Amino acid sequence: MQQTLKAIVDNCIKELGTCNDLSALNTIKVKVLGKNGELTQVLRGMKDIAPDERPKAGKLINEAREQIEKEIDQKENVLNELELQKRLENERVDITLPSAKVSHGALHPQTIVRNKIIDIFTSMGYSVEDGPEIETEYYNFEALNIPDDHPSKDMQDTFFITDSMRYNIILRSQTSNTQIRVMEKTKPPIKMINPGRVYRCDDIDATHSPMFHQIEGLVVDKGINMSDLNGTLGAFVKELFGSKARTRLRPSFFPFTEPSVEADATCPFCDNKGCRVCKGTGWIEILGAGMVNPKVLTNCGIDSDVFTGFAFGMGVDRITNIFYGITDCRIPFENDIRFLKQFR
Ligand SMILES: [Zn+2]
Repeated sequence: MQQTLKAIVDNCIKELGTCNDLSALNTIKVKVLGKNGELTQVLRGMKDIAPDERPKAGKLINEAREQIEKEIDQKENVLNELELQKRLENERVDITLPSAKVSHGALHPQTIVRNKIIDIFTSMGYSVEDGPEIETEYYNFEALNIPDDHPSKDMQDTFFITDSMRYNIILRSQTSNTQIRVMEKTKPPIKMINPGRVYRCDDIDATHSPMFHQIEGLVVDKGINMSDLNGTLGAFVKELFGSKARTRLRPSFFPFTEPSVEADATCPFCDNKGCRVCKGTGWIEILGAGMVNPKVLTNCGIDSDVFTGFAFGMGVDRITNIFYGITDCRIPFENDIRFLKQFR
């Protein structure tokens, strides 16, 4: 029996010597100390030994077990240490390596110009208001003094969502609905701009898009007159295109303003000398404006005998195209990275 035990211990030590991972170690453990292991088999053989020999045999078996357990424990410690080293090596971070290249995004040119316009007017004390893009006919047309037979109410020009007899739901064709909504709930003085998207039944081509962006402004107070409008637009154009820029007003017509004007700015490309962009005129049309029609004030519950106001509206897309010399209004919507990268 002593020889058997010695053979088991020696063999175990030999196997431990070549074992180099924890799962192989576990196999050895089971093979020797497990329920049917080599040492357990010897222990079971005790019943065949003479009773007075048993204490001696038991002692030998225990010694063998202790030795084997000690050897396995030592090996386990060594292997655990190795495993840790290996993991640390694998997970090592080389902080001297250059980092992966992060590409920076940029604001869309229209967002840049819209923010610039908003900055100019908020610096003059205007609030920024928002309104619904899905609107009733009333807020888009009627309240703005646009009669039923006006061409802009034609199905060819406006996207109709419902087609009932009264208060059709439409996609707003101008941001002026926001002005009506603000005037209904606010007592003058009012000094606001309202940027947003508008929709018109246009096929997309170089100069038309079924969706575009407007920024409108509205000032209502006692004693507001045409010279206030002229001064405001003059200051705006100088801020936008530079201190040399000038403005001129031409008579025009809109149902919601009376009198109405178109405002031109001196061409920023040729300094009013005439070039390809301004078609040789030296001037570029930038917005429509006028004194708020008293009927519109009355529609919103504002006493038009006491208060007057001016309003203006411009296309952000148009101003952006002028600003950056973009000649096709489809390009800003094509998401072409080569185009958009230029505005970083
Ligand atoms: Zn020009």
